[in-house]
Amino acid sequence: MSSSSDTLLCFQHCEKVNIFCFTIPYNCPVCRSDLSRTDMTIPPFRIPSPLKCEPSNFSLLIKPTFGSFTRDFKQGDLLHIALSNSKSVIFEFNENGISSSSTSSHLNWTNFLSISLSVLPYKFEDLDEILESTKVMDIWAADRYDDSFNNCFDYVISVLNASLQNSSFKLTKLQLTQDVISPAIKKTVRLLSIIRNVLDNGFFLQSTHAEQSISS
Ligand SMILES: [Zn+2]
Repeated sequence: MSSSSDTLLCFQHCEKVNIFCFTIPYNCPVCRSDLSRTDMTIPPFRIPSPLKCEPSNFSLLIKPTFGSFTRDFKQGDLLHIALSNSKSVIFEFNENGISSSSTSSHLNWTNFLSISLSVLPYKFEDLDEILESTKVMDIWAADRYDDSFNNCFDYVISVLNASLQNSSFKLTKLQLTQDVISPAIKKTVRLLSIIRNVLDNGFFLQSTHAEQSISS
């Protein structure tokens, strides 16, 4: 092993095949030639992890309700979501009512997805005040929590709608899921599958001609 990294790397050597790895191997997994003696067509570049351990400000945070993204998550698993304010303090609603903390580990948030609210096609205002006010609202008391009818999604949607500038428009759970959460989860699941393959085999090969070879 010639170099080591915690980050996922990708390179191409002899063919149009993406080679994913954490450590650049001595020999090309495709043609077996010595990588130190031959040029790569695409030198190694880092694939940034979509998973965060520290929250950013004004973001939608997503993690699996049970287990973790890295260990055992699969598409369709239940999700838990939360919001962060301007100071990156996380606000979440669950069976304990509202919890908030600026240290993600206090709330058991590690390896989560973070989507900046600024990339959404909506304008939010007074989010700090609205999030703070939810701490004393009856509807978000611990005993009002309900798995199906008053859960973390209801909380996030309610806060976002209260802070939407254009009050005639209301976000729905379905919209938030279809437009924001599902695309982010799909991307993450694809990358996690590559990472699991690399962990099992040391590398993962992805043909960039996949579509052509299927049709020919
Ligand atoms: Zn090669």
